[in-house]
Order: sequence, then C-alpha cells, then structure tokens
Amino acid sequence: MSDSTQDAPVAARSRAGAAAVCAFGDRYRATLLSRYGDADVVDRAVEALRSADDPTVALDELDAVLQALGDPRGLYGALRAAPGTTHGAGLAPTSPGESVYLCPTARCSRYWLPEAGTTVPRCAVSDTALRRTRL
Ligand SMILES: [Zn+2]
Repeated sequence: MSDSTQDAPVAARSRAGAAAVCAFGDRYRATLLSRYGDADVVDRAVEALRSADDPTVALDELDAVLQALGDPRGLYGALRAAPGTTHGAGLAPTSPGESVYLCPTARCSRYWLPEAGTTVPRCAVSDTALRRTRL
C-alpha cells in the first residue's frame, strides 16, 4: 500500500493531526481526564508521534473521540479554528527575514509567529519549546 498518489494526502493529514496534538495535546488530555477520567487516546497519539510508527490510526482515534465530545472540527480541523495562536499548513508567512517558530519534531506542520508579550509555545509531543528560524 504505497501508491504515491494516495500517500501525499495521507501524509498531509497526519501532519495536520500532529500539529493539533503538538498545540493542544495538554488541553485534550485535561478535557478527557475530566470527562472520562482517562486520556489514553491522547497518550497513544503522542506516543505514535514520538515513535517511528505510522500515527494515522492513533490520530484518527483521537479525532473520533474529540468529535464525539461535541467538537465538530475534531483533530484535523483544530488548527484552522485557532487563528493568531497557531497556524496550520498552507498559511505560511511570506515576509523574508521574519522570524518564525517551528515544531522541533519533523512530523508536524505547526508553526508560530512571535507576538510581543507572549512566550514561545511548547510542543506537547516532544515537550520542548518551538525552535526559532528565519524565512
Ligand atoms: Zn510538535
């Protein structure tokens, strides 16, 4: 199952899911703990993203749980709903020389633009701050 015409959208979807876990993993864990007393589905997604395994199944599972909790955007739509704090793929800034922060893991499409008076966000997958780079 490595048809290249199907791999590309799957990979893009996984990167979007990874970015949502990176940005909101701690929030998802807190929500699930308070609602169910159990956040294993978040832990499985984080572990899949930390490992070399294909995270698709774990991300799909978390997406389904979030939608069942009443979030119609689920996991894959989470970043589109959070302008100003975190940006999804396809919305890259265009000013040359501008600083941008990227997730330290290579599996996620998250990035963040510096804002005065805010601290650099952390990645919930790797538990490290996003790293700064220049365009
Ligand atoms: Zn990350």
